[in-house]
Formats: sequence, structure tokens, C-alpha cells
Amino acid sequence: MISFRLNSDRRAIYFLCLNALRFVPYAYGLLRTHAELDPMIGDGYTWKEPLIDIEPVDLTVSKITDPTVLLASCYVWNHNQQIQIARRVKESYPEGRVVFGGPHVPNDSEPYLRENPFVDVLVHGEGEIALRDMLAAFLSSEPALDGIAGISFLSNGRYVNTTPGRQLPKDLPVPSPYLNGLFDAFLEDGRPNKIGLWETNRGCPYECTFCDWGVRTMNKLRRHDGDKIRQEIDYLAQHRMEDIYVTDCNFGIFERDLDIARMLVEAKQRYGYPKRVRIQFAKKSNETVFAVSKLLHDNDMLWGTTLSMQSVDTTVLKEINRKFLGLRNYRDLEARYTTAGIPTYTELILGLPLETRQSFVQGICTLFDIGIHEDIRVFELALLPNAPLSRPDQRETYGLETEMRPLRLAENGKVPEYVELVFGTRSMPREDMAYCLLFGEVIQALHNGGYTRFLARYLHDSGRMGYADFYTGLLDGLLAGDTAAARPFRRIQRLIDDFYRDPEMPQIHRILSQPDMLAFLDGYNPKRKGWPLWTYIWLAISEIRDTFYAGVSDVLVSQNIKMDEPLRDLMSYQQDLMLTLEYDPAVGKTVRADFNWYDYFFHGRPLEKASCTLHYGDKTMGISHRFELVKGDRTRFVRAAIGMSYPYSKFRHFFHQRDTTTRSLH
Ligand code: SF4
Repeated sequence: MISFRLNSDRRAIYFLCLNALRFVPYAYGLLRTHAELDPMIGDGYTWKEPLIDIEPVDLTVSKITDPTVLLASCYVWNHNQQIQIARRVKESYPEGRVVFGGPHVPNDSEPYLRENPFVDVLVHGEGEIALRDMLAAFLSSEPALDGIAGISFLSNGRYVNTTPGRQLPKDLPVPSPYLNGLFDAFLEDGRPNKIGLWETNRGCPYECTFCDWGVRTMNKLRRHDGDKIRQEIDYLAQHRMEDIYVTDCNFGIFERDLDIARMLVEAKQRYGYPKRVRIQFAKKSNETVFAVSKLLHDNDMLWGTTLSMQSVDTTVLKEINRKFLGLRNYRDLEARYTTAGIPTYTELILGLPLETRQSFVQGICTLFDIGIHEDIRVFELALLPNAPLSRPDQRETYGLETEMRPLRLAENGKVPEYVELVFGTRSMPREDMAYCLLFGEVIQALHNGGYTRFLARYLHDSGRMGYADFYTGLLDGLLAGDTAAARPFRRIQRLIDDFYRDPEMPQIHRILSQPDMLAFLDGYNPKRKGWPLWTYIWLAISEIRDTFYAGVSDVLVSQNIKMDEPLRDLMSYQQDLMLTLEYDPAVGKTVRADFNWYDYFFHGRPLEKASCTLHYGDKTMGISHRFELVKGDRTRFVRAAIGMSYPYSKFRHFFHQRDTTTRSLH
């Protein structure tokens, strides 16, 4: 039995859930409202306002006085900082109990507890029941923790682990922290850019090996009460919450999710909020997912619908336990969403077991083949502490070559956070992975970002050149010369090479660590920190458009593509289509073409030679038309042209949009 001395005068609970973004501290809310169902806990403790801002350690520590319990919800982005805070707090208040939970707490916890002796207890997995039982135990003068399921600790040097923990039953009987008023102060403090986290169901029936979610929730799907959900939507709308992130990992898996979407739409119609909803849809896309997507899209609330992939290679998907619908189904789904005008996005992970350079490059081009052009996101594989792929046998089997890398640039008084990234595997050596990272960024800039999307589509559709040949040829061709057109690509290639060599370069802030790149981007928005690599390429090309397209032509000619009449006309259509800083939304832009490219690309009609005048009339860009275009305004141009740094979506950016174009034929 672990033994703590109780000082009944000090029953303050502090909660750490530090985050760079202003998310509602939802984990705090759920854990607290559930614990306070026990009146002894409700009466026995005072919960202090949760600490959510990443500030210098000294400052956060100074806000914690006489804690009876210090709780910390740990993720990859806050763990080290929270560890330092806890260590300092324990030094000042040795009788306070330090309890860590969250996904970053390792299941295999003995070394962790011995390395961090100021952490008294770890909570593993779902925390509500374990925390309630623990807080109740702490009210006694001799708390007995051995009987509490789902925790680990050292008791007189002996390691005790009581996992697995207990999960909430299927109706998730947790009172709503929104309706209980726990977030009132947070929501009414006048600070901007808050994001509402919100759960309607919990659990995941899948077990993808790179993820700790399915394992963490042990797969049982459970649902929050429908009445509570309705009232929470009203609360969020009345508190003018612009963005809601649904934390469910499979929204749309239940038929009732369409009713929830209807309630969200009704709330927007009545109150004007929420404006947007970000959803991780059910992996087996179904009728409910489509209906929810359509409803939210029709009401300008959808961030996009995931056509879930991670890899396009079936061998890889089988190896990581990922369910796959089959390419034909994806093609049909994409066609259905495209016809309905609903934006989709696809996420790929670079570095998965058995993926090769060829399968990765070909996989992206297969997505284009089946009509997915809008938004492909490439993420580097990171090993999470409790994901099956992190186990020693899995690392060995797949030859995972990993390094710990700082996430962000170091800041005074703050503790760097590290992520374990995969830099090579048995099937994809380091240099191949660096190439694939570059290729993925180039694709996001040029194809998703529009600069060569229509050119590539025409060459592919007319049988003159496939996507893989087009993009690998273009990248190789540009990198082979030292032309002005090649410079953005060479710079990103050099950055990636440096990143693969330099253990100090931060992953998220790679570009911020490069003075020349930062100076260029500061010219657009000196306050912005989130610059994915492709955004640099995109903006750099926007300043050298003529040179870039001349470079593209040269590469195509060098590959024996004849610059015939349609192709010359398309080159100029493609260039004119792109948004520019000089575009004036007050007058729009009128361009001419000798072929009807507009109907060919946007209405699927056969290409027709016809003198064509197009008038582009965009005034706003982005989801829910939220970003105004203002001629010559560089900061606004960035948001309108490439979107926000987080959360990002590539929908309705980059080029003049179909629905704001007027076309006349002569
Ligand atoms: S990646 Fe998604 S589907 Fe797979 S286990 Fe994690 S949450 Fe579930």
C-alpha cells in the first residue's frame, strides 16, 4: 500500500493541460465532472482553473500554491514542460500528489516512474473512473491505491501496476462540463481563436499499429446521451463558438450522427454559430458519412471529408492493420463527393512498414488517377509511446530507424518537446525517405496547390504523360539545373537534407530555423509560425510565375512533349488561373483562351476548340468563405491563397474558383 499524509486544510487540485492553441480544456472538464459525481469529492476538493498556456516554467510554477493534487494530461507537445513543472512543484510541496495521465504516459511504466520519482501515480488509458477512485482514496489519511484499476506507482520502491483500467459504461455517464459551467470563464475571457473540443462517442473499433487510440480505448464504442448533446450544441452556439472539433475518431459510424449534424446546422441558422465543424469521419465511409458531409457542406460548415488512406499500397495497409475499402470504392466515393461538390482530403503517412520509394510515389499518383486532386496531406511517421509499432519487435522487424527531434524552436524559459521520428526503414532507406518527403511537399505545392494540376491532368487524360512521369520528371528536371525556376525546390531539398543530418533542427519549425526562408516569409506575415514546407514553395513560385512556367515548359520539351497549340494555350490558362497578390477583387480578372478549358476541367466535358473569355470574380477564399481578398495585402493574401497554418485545409484556395467564374464562348 502506498501511503500519503493528508493535510485536510489543503485540498486544492491543479490541472496541467498545456497547449499552444486555445482549445477548450476538455479533458479537465470530463475528468472533473465525473469525479464530482461523488459528493465526497465534490465537497472535499477545490479545483483551480486549469493551466493551459505554454509559458516559462517559472511562471506556471508560480501559479501553483499548496496543491493537494497536481494532475497533468500529457501529450507529445506538452510532456517535457509538464514534467519540469511537476518536478519543481514537488520540490516546493512534497506532500502534494503528482498524478500524470494522457496518451504520452507509457504503459510499460516502471522505468518512467523510477526516472521521475516526483510523479506519484500514473493513470493509464481512460481516466475518469481511476481518477475518481484515486481522489476518493486521497481523502483518507492512509489512501489505499492497490485496489484502483488502471494505475501504476512505486510503493516503498516496489512497482505496482493495476492495468487494465475500468472504462465508462456504454452510455458514457459523464455530466457535461459545458452545461456545468466549467468553461464559462474560459469562453468569456475575451481572448480570440478558441476551439471547442467536443465528444459525441468514444472508442475506435480498429487497431492501426501506428496509432495508440484503438489500443487506448480498447475498441469499445460508446455514445454520449442524445439530450446532453442537443443541449451542448445550444450552449456552444450561444457562447459563439466558431470552430468545433469533434474528438470522435469515427463520426458517422452511427446513424444518429446525421441527427447531430442537423442540430449543428439548426444552431448555426438560429444563432450564427458554430461556423465550422471539424470531424474525423468513420473509416468505412458510408451513407451517413456522405449525408453528414453534404448537409454540413451545403451549410458552409464542413472542413472537408476524409477519404481515409495512410498508404495506397495494400501490402502496407495489411501490415499496419488498416482497413482498406479497395481502390475502386475510393474512385466511386471520390466521384460521388466531387459530383456533389463536397471537398475531400486524404492523409498519407511517410515511413510506414514495407512502403518503398516507388510505392509511395506511385501511390500519390494513383490518387490522382482515381480523381483525388484537392487535398493530399503527407505526415512523417512518428512513434507514439503506446502504439503497437513502437514495440521493440516491430522496430526490429521493419528496421525502423528513429531519432528524437525537437518539435519547435527553443524559447526562453520553456522546455523543448521531442518527437520520435522515423528517418528510414528496411524498405525505405534514409535517402529514399528524404526524396519522398520532398516529393510529397512538391505535390502539395504544385498539384494540390494548383500550379501544375491542370497541366498534369490534361497530359494524363490525353494519354501523353502519366502523373508519375510528369511529377518525377518535373522535379528531377528542375533540380538538375540552377535556374531561377528551380530555386524554391532546391532550397527545400537542401532544408530536408539538413534536417536529416542535424539533430537540433526542430520538426514543426524547420523553416523558422532558416534565416533566409524566414526573412522571405516574414514579408508576408511576420507573426505566423506555421509554415509547412510546401507553403514556401507555393509563395516563392507566386513571385516568379513567368520564370516558373518557362522552366516547366523547358522540362516538358526536354522530355519530348511537343508544345503544340492546345498545350501552349493550356500553359497560359493554367498560369492565369492562379491567384496573385495583384488580383483586385473589386474588378475581378478577365482572361482569354482558345480552348474551352473551363468546361473540360470543371464540368467534365470533352475539350473543345473555341474562343473563350473567362471572368474571375472571387472576393473571398477558404472554407465558409472566411478569407477576404484585398489587392496587394500580403498578410491577407497568404490566408486567402494558402489558408491557415492550423487547422489547415486546401479547399477553396490557390486559384480562381469554379463557382465564381463566368465563361462566354465566341
Ligand atoms: S488511426 Fe484512426 S482508425 Fe486507426 S486505430 Fe487510430 S483512431 Fe482508430
